Amino acid sequence: MNKPKMATEKGVPSNSRVLMLLSQLERMNGDAMLADADMARQVTSKILHLIQTQEKTRKEVMSKGSSGMEVILASLENTRDLQTILNILYILNELLTVGGGRRVGVFVSKGGTGVLLQLVLSASKDTPPSEELLLQLHSLLAKVGPKDRKLGVKARLNGALNVTVTLLKQNLQNNKLLLPCLQVLRVYSANSVNAISLGKNGVVDLMFKIIGPYSKKNTTLLKVSLDTLGAMLKSKTNARRAVDRGHVPVLLAVYQDWHRNDTRHRHMLIRKGLLTCLKNVTNIKLGRKAFVEADGMRVLYNTSTECLPVRTLDPLVNTSSLIMRKCFPKNRLPLPTIKSVYQHLLPHLSAGGPVAQLYSQPPGGACRKQVYVKPSRVDDVVDESDDNEEAEGDTENDTENEEDEKDHNAANDDIETDLNKLRPRENPRRPFDELRVYERFFLELSEDFQGFNFETQKTGLTGTQASNKTQRPIILPTAQALPPKRPIPARAESHLAKGEHASSPAPPPPLELDSILISKDQDRPPGHAPRPTPGAGLEQELADKMERVSLEGAGPPSGAGGLGEAAAGRQVQPPLLAGGVAGGVASWRAAGGGVGVEGLGEEGPEEEGAVLEVPDTALLLPLHDPDLYVEMVKSTSSVPRFSEVAYPDYFGHVAPTFREPILERVYGVQRSKIFQDIERMIHPNDILDKVVYDLDVPSCPVLDDGESLKFNSQFESGNLRKAIQVRKFEYDLVLNSDINSNHYHQWFYFEVSGMRVGTPYRFNIINCEKSNSQFNYGMQVLMYSVQEAISGRPRWVRTGTDICYYKNHFSRSSLAAGGQKGRSYYTTTFSTAFSHRDDVCYFAYHYPYTYSTLKMHLAKLEALRTPQIYLRQDVLCDTLGGNPCPLLTITAMPESTSNEHICQLRNRPLVFLSSRVHPGETNASWVMKGTLEFLMGTSPQAHSLRESYIFKIVPMLNPDGVINGNHRCSLSGEDLNRQWQSPVPDLHPTIYHTKSLLQYLAAIQRAPLVFCDYHGHSRKKNVFMYGCSVKETVWQSNINATSCDLHEDMGYRTLPKILSQTAPAFSMASCSFVVERSKEATARVVVWREIGVQRSYTMESTLCGCDQGKYKGLQIGTRELEEMGAQFCVALLRLKRLTSPLELRHHPHLLDVEGDLIETRVKVASSPTTYVLEEDEPAFLEEVDYSAESNDEDPDNDPDNDPQDSLVRSEANQRDSLT
Ligand SMILES: [Zn+2]
Repeated sequence: MNKPKMATEKGVPSNSRVLMLLSQLERMNGDAMLADADMARQVTSKILHLIQTQEKTRKEVMSKGSSGMEVILASLENTRDLQTILNILYILNELLTVGGGRRVGVFVSKGGTGVLLQLVLSASKDTPPSEELLLQLHSLLAKVGPKDRKLGVKARLNGALNVTVTLLKQNLQNNKLLLPCLQVLRVYSANSVNAISLGKNGVVDLMFKIIGPYSKKNTTLLKVSLDTLGAMLKSKTNARRAVDRGHVPVLLAVYQDWHRNDTRHRHMLIRKGLLTCLKNVTNIKLGRKAFVEADGMRVLYNTSTECLPVRTLDPLVNTSSLIMRKCFPKNRLPLPTIKSVYQHLLPHLSAGGPVAQLYSQPPGGACRKQVYVKPSRVDDVVDESDDNEEAEGDTENDTENEEDEKDHNAANDDIETDLNKLRPRENPRRPFDELRVYERFFLELSEDFQGFNFETQKTGLTGTQASNKTQRPIILPTAQALPPKRPIPARAESHLAKGEHASSPAPPPPLELDSILISKDQDRPPGHAPRPTPGAGLEQELADKMERVSLEGAGPPSGAGGLGEAAAGRQVQPPLLAGGVAGGVASWRAAGGGVGVEGLGEEGPEEEGAVLEVPDTALLLPLHDPDLYVEMVKSTSSVPRFSEVAYPDYFGHVAPTFREPILERVYGVQRSKIFQDIERMIHPNDILDKVVYDLDVPSCPVLDDGESLKFNSQFESGNLRKAIQVRKFEYDLVLNSDINSNHYHQWFYFEVSGMRVGTPYRFNIINCEKSNSQFNYGMQVLMYSVQEAISGRPRWVRTGTDICYYKNHFSRSSLAAGGQKGRSYYTTTFSTAFSHRDDVCYFAYHYPYTYSTLKMHLAKLEALRTPQIYLRQDVLCDTLGGNPCPLLTITAMPESTSNEHICQLRNRPLVFLSSRVHPGETNASWVMKGTLEFLMGTSPQAHSLRESYIFKIVPMLNPDGVINGNHRCSLSGEDLNRQWQSPVPDLHPTIYHTKSLLQYLAAIQRAPLVFCDYHGHSRKKNVFMYGCSVKETVWQSNINATSCDLHEDMGYRTLPKILSQTAPAFSMASCSFVVERSKEATARVVVWREIGVQRSYTMESTLCGCDQGKYKGLQIGTRELEEMGAQFCVALLRLKRLTSPLELRHHPHLLDVEGDLIETRVKVASSPTTYVLEEDEPAFLEEVDYSAESNDEDPDNDPDNDPQDSLVRSEANQRDSLT
């Protein structure tokens, strides 16, 4: 060490005695110190005396600018005289005891800890070592250690670690020395490598010699030992050692003892320390086993239950619940296989594709459909929760900095850093000849409107009017249905021919319902009902267009009557034919209407021939028509061949006028739900475990003993697979996987009947997959009551209390978890009480919007057409399931057939919109509905918008997914929004043809001005956009910006900026314009890069609600979603004005907006948007519980927002919800 110079600060009196002494000490440093030990002792002893007696001298030594500490440390290093060393150590002890962290900080920064460690080592070599010296050294290290992050590493490297361990072993009975040694060990053990080394040296066992039953003595010692032990048990080797030595029952016994005796809760920290040891030891499989064998579940359950009333003991309850969840034996999902109940054989199997993998089938399987899958030979529900610990040892690599690096990189990991992938890509450019076939979808660009007869056009092109059932809603030929004579390039032909093949497999004889569609025969003879039942004769009446549905054969003769009967016949009766409802209405009407519905359905036999009154919603829901809906359902083809119609889709939904606030989160809900789950294990006899609904049993038996709810989900978009009554008023529900898949569960839509009034029922959806949900942040489920509907309130309302979402004890096999073992499913739980007897209620994840609903809306859209509106509906292609994918063209008719007007039309920029590629994101469809209705509206803005643009809209990119109740995929078992880079026409026809339309436009130099794909977001609030910017991506990554051409038009920000000013639900702060690697095959990125659309967006709407703007604190409803769709149009109009200098001159007020935008640009230039992670919810007290994994070392990597390794990333690609 260089010799420090004792500086005398200005302001400090030069005659300060302590400073003079320090100067003297400084002069002695070096040889003099060694030569004159007496002098050194004297001087240090005088300094010590001064420092012990005068606070002012302590201040002088430690004052800023003073080099006192350097002098003291240099002396400590230089002297070999024990008494001098001790004097200096006493001085340091005095100096560092007061003055808080700053003084210790100075000490550490001057290298003090290193000097101390060196002294520890040399002191240990003395024979005999000086106990006093070692005591003083450890006291000081204990004091300064926590301030030096590197202390543990330094101690290990210089050998001081083992000195302390030896000292400890030799002094177990010497409390005076024991405590400082333990305190130092506590600091050392925080380092994972040290923890392993300490374990090897027998410190785990040593700690158990100190830890003992309740005693008021030596509690500090006990606390420090527990901290040390807790830190060491994080190492798997140490945990295993503790288990092998039988310490787990000891920990439990000691915990119970403290729990019993510490009645005044004075020793919370000791109790918490014991739990922390248990928590860490149960990270390993053997630890969990030992815990369960030692009756740990019951011990912690009972102690926690006793702690619950005392709020201050919450940390104990929370840690206990964490341990119990971890040790809760993992269960299999109660299913024969996790593969979807339904399978759809694909016309073409890509060898490495998900379906081939799932079913191990050779490519090119036969074109037939199969509804029920044979039980699989592979057990894919297997519980592998404990298989992930083959190597239960620790690695001894120094991992000191790992955490920091991980934290630093995690957020930026997914940002695209390959500049080549941020540059436009037009290859492989398809030959124009191949694209020419898409010309027919752009008739407006070539149409000369000569001799144009609007009326003819209308009937010729439009589909079904409500009154005209003989027409299909969409009649333009599809690409496949082109006349064969038409010359099409060979390659396109082959594609299309395959498409044709795909869309017309030879199915087994279709159900009668289908045959109505196929033959367009409205007068199908009765008696051909698919499943003959007492109510089956009614089917024909469905076909009748009328305001009422007559009822002939009511439900089964027995039972409580009313809807109960209806539901009993549910198997065979479409709900809308349910006798009970009609009966209910009949009695309601008999009672004079308007009365409460409590007495519904009591009359029984009198109900025959009663009439079901459909709520008259025509005024409120201009696009809704129940009869038309039924017609649409008939032409919708589903894999399970649904023959029923859900009431909500039939009656329609009128958005409620009352506010639906985001729920305030109640503390402790999650905990109490978990405790109820744990009770299943503690009190197994209380559990009914009664299957009340099961699609895996082909007959799907329905119990009707009056003791259980009745479930149904066999209608469009429904996806309940199984319901198990767990307790009298509690049900476990299992969702079906996406078809041809073994996972993606989140969306749900099911029907419940047979309920009791006023009793809260608890529902647990037990196979959810995302690691967090807005259900934890105020979102409620949606419920639809048929009784309410027929009383004039047909609507979905936000429902449910005690809602939460947490990791459960059902094991997720690695087959469904992207190869990862040891993962669990999550539970969505909610409770609700029903207010009507004999009701039929529906629950959904979000406002349902079926494919048949879309077809109905599109048909009704025709009715909004005026002579000024150009509306054309084409079929873009057929889906794998044989459903037409509609394509809409909306613009204004030319003012006349003059060249000028025709040219004006043809020159309008295009806006390309799409939606609902993800079936579970129903909100996207409601936004699209808002857009479509606005575009067809009569407002001057709508008029102006149509004159400004040609709109090309694919309102549902994934009809099959929607129909079959999928959450994420199409029938190919793939996420279609990951197929845009190279869609396969046979597997992803809607994406292939939509992309082709865009490629065609690019080829004719008409790439759209704006492309936007509507989505829903399950984990964020508000509505927002994702766009693409090279600049902002580069800013967010570590790429050297100078290496990249950063000239970029900021125009991509204009539209979201306008939206943030005009649309109340929209939040600019949530937008991001970063290009992520995991999104390179999404519509947004591909259309931006390959088609060259600068304004290419994903618009995400929350499933939950807003935390800003006019709707702050409210859950989102269909009204707000539809408004968003309309506001999107308004924003396009502003965009038009802003991008057109001519317009600007005529509307100077627009300059304000422009100015605002320019301001934004300036701001952006200095601070681009932050890279938006998927979750932006605040931390919550109970948060710790979400990550309770059986293996805490593996953080719960949510693949959606934290793609840290390739495995996780590949899973992210499969099941990301973002775009
Ligand atoms: Zn999406």
